[in-house]
Amino acid sequence: MRYPRPILRLIDELGKLPGIGPKTAQRLAFHILKAPRADVLNLAETLIEARDKIRRCSICSNLTDEDPCAICSDPSRNRGIICVVEDPKDVMVMERTGEYNGVYHVLGGAISPMEGVGPEDLRLKELVDRVKKQGIEEVIIATNPDVEGEATAMYVARILSPFGVKVTRLARGVPVGGDLEYTDEATLARALLGRRRIDEQ
Ligand SMILES: [Zn+2]
Repeated sequence: MRYPRPILRLIDELGKLPGIGPKTAQRLAFHILKAPRADVLNLAETLIEARDKIRRCSICSNLTDEDPCAICSDPSRNRGIICVVEDPKDVMVMERTGEYNGVYHVLGGAISPMEGVGPEDLRLKELVDRVKKQGIEEVIIATNPDVEGEATAMYVARILSPFGVKVTRLARGVPVGGDLEYTDEATLARALLGRRRIDEQ
């Protein structure tokens, strides 16, 4: 006895989502099958809309529905300071501190030889271009405080050193081995205020 094909396919597709194991996929599938058709249609349309309308900001690579993104096009932001983060969700984390008024650069990950992610896989050239072209005073590196994030921070500091820009790193206080995403706002705000230089002055 097997499930009809459309159910199997639904379970299969849901199971491709991160953090969704076979049991959860099955539970979600049956939830969807029981839901009113209008709700399912709304979910399907929401998925397509997000997928079609969200793209990368041509300046900072953050996810946005308008290009440049709301932060890059906000005249009250200080364009002389760039905060470098791994992922778009880290931009939201930094924004929640309410302590940062510069702009961002989203790398799209961290250098990780274990996972086969090299410098060429990150948006580093775009960062160097921004530093070269626009009078940037400071680059704050807010990659995660784990091995990959630290390696990435050192790499960024090295490739920016020819341009004489001040490069800083968030202070300790963000738990080592932790993830920016799980750091509370007060801790992150302190880490931001206590940032230290990692360039060769
Ligand atoms: Zn942007």
